[in-house]
Amino acid sequence: MKLSELGEFGLIEKIRNQIGHPGGKVIKGIDDDCAVVEISGDRVSLFTSDMLVEGVHFKKGFTNPANLGRKALAVNISDIAAMGGKPLYALLSLGAPETSDVDYIDGMISGMKTMAGEYGIHLVGGDTSLSPEALFISMFLVGESSKDTVLYRSGTGPEQVVFVTGEVGSSAAGLDILRRVVSIKKYASLMEAHLTPRPHVKEGEILASSGLVTSLIDVSDGVIADLRHICEGSRVGAIVRQMDLPISEECRQYCDNYGIKAEELALFGGEDYVLLGTVPEHAYYELRDLMKSEGCSIFPIGRTKPGGGIRIQNKDGDIIKVGPVGYDHFKGRQV
Ligand code: ADP
Ligand code: MG
Repeated sequence: MKLSELGEFGLIEKIRNQIGHPGGKVIKGIDDDCAVVEISGDRVSLFTSDMLVEGVHFKKGFTNPANLGRKALAVNISDIAAMGGKPLYALLSLGAPETSDVDYIDGMISGMKTMAGEYGIHLVGGDTSLSPEALFISMFLVGESSKDTVLYRSGTGPEQVVFVTGEVGSSAAGLDILRRVVSIKKYASLMEAHLTPRPHVKEGEILASSGLVTSLIDVSDGVIADLRHICEGSRVGAIVRQMDLPISEECRQYCDNYGIKAEELALFGGEDYVLLGTVPEHAYYELRDLMKSEGCSIFPIGRTKPGGGIRIQNKDGDIIKVGPVGYDHFKGRQV
């Protein structure tokens, strides 16, 4: 069987079955944003690894070396934020063709180092290899959290509020701008959202320590695709209200100008790296006020439901069932 038939998630499932449950001090292995391992007392270590591959995740012409370095670290930090943890130590594995420009790699490391400094992360090692054609930037990030507060994709029940911690759709709009080569000055915030996403570590830590939140994930694949991970992990369904999606004014303007449905980008776009979570209805306002008092936000976008599956309530109030959506690395765009 070819990988294109099995697909990315089929492959991960196969690997999971092959390696089985790790046991020992491992609280969570494959299936969440990070692996969670008991260290001492009530502390847990969080492990995550994410890579950026040239031609798959980025094009050199779309970004600059410093922003590429930032993003390679940002996508990893975001997975630590999705557990409510604090990022600590990073390793960088680099695969590069021998024709690579050393100044380019220099610039990339420089951007990575600046971001590491901003988040109190230490870059402590890595690995280097020749790559036949594409540049590979793979990072491994270690973080920590307390065992009692760490948040998983599983843990929510039916009739809870689904929320996000920031605007969605902007990153997908930024990518669309790059693909169309339209004037980038006009839509700076959209370009920024795509090229230099801000991982929501502060938000994650507040959500986790509040003790009110029941599940959490970061939006890397898109609101619907990532909400599906929560639904499957927690054995619930969900309904998302299109009208409630936080979409920036600039994103709406861009979409209007280019005949794109902003809500589609917000629901299916991905790479926004905000957090998506659930909170029981009775605790929603307390959580909202707590976030506000710390200078952060949450936006309610729907509710979890008994059973399975995700539905969208559109502007006219119609309820639409959504099939499996999201990016699969081996099957192509929509799965
Ligand atoms: P995220 O988008 O949050 O980074 P992924 O979709 O990349 O998560 O991965 C989903 C889960 O599968 C994670 O728990 C991750 O650790 C695991 N995973 C992905 N690829 C592999 C692999 N090659 N071997 C083992 N586990 C993997
Ligand atoms: Mg994630």
